[in-house]
Amino acid sequence: MANSKFEYVKHFEQPDQLLPNTWVVVRLDGRGFTKFSAKHGFEKPNDRRALDLMNAAARGVVTELPDITIAYGVSDEYSFVFHKTCSLFERRSSKLVSTVVSTFTAYYVHLWSTYFPDSPLSPPLPSFDGRAVCYPSVQNLRDYLSWRQVDCHINNLYNTTFWALIQLGGMDATEAEKSLKGTYSADKHEILFSRFSVNYNNEPEILRKGSVIFRDYELVEPDSTQNIMLEVEKLAEPVQQSKTQAEKDKKKRAKAPIVVQHLDIIKDDFWDRRPWLLS
Ligand code: ATP
Ligand code: ATP
Ligand code: MG
Ligand code: MG
Ligand code: MG
Ligand code: MG
Repeated sequence: MANSKFEYVKHFEQPDQLLPNTWVVVRLDGRGFTKFSAKHGFEKPNDRRALDLMNAAARGVVTELPDITIAYGVSDEYSFVFHKTCSLFERRSSKLVSTVVSTFTAYYVHLWSTYFPDSPLSPPLPSFDGRAVCYPSVQNLRDYLSWRQVDCHINNLYNTTFWALIQLGGMDATEAEKSLKGTYSADKHEILFSRFSVNYNNEPEILRKGSVIFRDYELVEPDSTQNIMLEVEKLAEPVQQSKTQAEKDKKKRAKAPIVVQHLDIIKDDFWDRRPWLLS
């Protein structure tokens, strides 16, 4: 950049580097999707095309940003977890958030007509807000993801019951809201089952659990001879050894297929079976 008398304005920029060695979560959320979903005739309470489109757009983001280790989505929101070692954009928050949000939005608009061929986009076009939050421990990160999945469960149970009362029970929104006021989870299960023969536990997993995106690969156990060699090398040159192994793992990860699944990410099982996600 050429020197000029105007250059001092650069110093007005505020540093926004995220804390090193922490898990960075970028969460985006659709702006005004209550209106947007009505405009495009999303089925209530859950439009499958809209969820598939969210997942496809998020998959695009995960594909383009290999530092993302896992993503979780529900409704009009998606959370992307950057590995704690991520150094993309020197971990500058505004760069990370704006890249995730614009990449996601670009895919969302690009793929729109595949999922909604009969409802072309017109202004106001879909847009998303975003933020970044650092989580210093694996426990904090897992609690964050659990928080989003519990939210998915609570909202979906409520919405499923609310819309059953309207669509199957003939109530209006005010009556349905009144019927559900002060009810617990068990009461909603009971309303669904006794009045509409709906067993909530048989609702599709994508609705009850939301969507998880990650690179699916199995770490191949090195054979025993190699294992001994590795141990010896570790003793001799611990740093170098772990570095080459890390490089190999990184390459393998980059090649792994990116999958979208609908699993419980609150219990240990999901994480125990995929140790590479948080290592
Ligand atoms: P804000 O801009 O504050 O986020 P919002 O209207 O987007 O406002 P949210 O709390 O984000 O509010 O709620 C998302 C809205 O989008 C809800 O009304 C929800 O029903 C609707 N929505 C999102 N995804 C779907 C879907 N797959 N099917 C039907 N409706 C959906
Ligand atoms: P970064 O991701 O770091 O921003 P970059 O390649 O986008 O990398 P910039 O400094 O933003 O680097 O430069 C923008 C690049 O895009 C330049 O190479 C510039 O020549 C090119 N470019 C932008 N707009 C035009 C245009 N209208 N016509 C021709 N080239 C363009
Ligand atoms: Mg919002
Ligand atoms: Mg929203
Ligand atoms: Mg939302
Ligand atoms: Mg540029």
